[in-house]
Amino acid sequence: MSLDKHIEKVLFSDEAIAERVAQLGSEITSQFSGDSEPPVFVGVATGACLFLADLVRRIDLPISIDYIRADSYASGTVSSGSPRISFDLKLDITNKHVFLVEDIVDTGNTLSCLIEHLKLKKASSVSVCTLLDKPSRRKVHFKLVGDGKFYSGFECPDEFVVGYGMDFAEQYRNLSYVGVLKPECYM
Ligand code: 5GP
Ligand code: MG
Repeated sequence: MSLDKHIEKVLFSDEAIAERVAQLGSEITSQFSGDSEPPVFVGVATGACLFLADLVRRIDLPISIDYIRADSYASGTVSSGSPRISFDLKLDITNKHVFLVEDIVDTGNTLSCLIEHLKLKKASSVSVCTLLDKPSRRKVHFKLVGDGKFYSGFECPDEFVVGYGMDFAEQYRNLSYVGVLKPECYM
């Protein structure tokens, strides 16, 4: 059965994502174009993999790229609320501008844990770009580091979404759009 048949509705199409990613890319390029020290783009694995790949191709600056992983979802669709860093950076970010790339910010627990971690590693600034934001679900108010900025692709309704990197039980990450699963697919 084709993956599309598992999807009840499409929230953000391939075309809408591509257009927004291009806009974000040029905004972010302007943010850093005056800096002598180019930023380190850090993708939050695994969910941000497709977004990171598309976004960095829209950044016209000499950046470097790394990955970090924070685990909070034991399984299913509800966050455990106490994320931990389970895979750390390879690069030294001391005195560097760091640009965290996330798939989705929900309660804010994961982001707040990641920002604190990058602060301890002495990043000179931490900016965040998330593809999706669910502000209605926020529990933790995270603080950016230095003159870091917050970018968000789209505001997401309070629904569990999959696709474009985001999973349910490690499936559906390879959908090229973001959608909501049919209820029978959670069974
Ligand atoms: P938070 O710690 O902000 O509650 O959750 C952040 C992480 O939970 C995200 O990076 C993402 O991996 C996962 N998450 C939150 N909402 C969703 C959703 O609707 N769908 C999927 N697939 N993952 C989500
Ligand atoms: Mg994530």
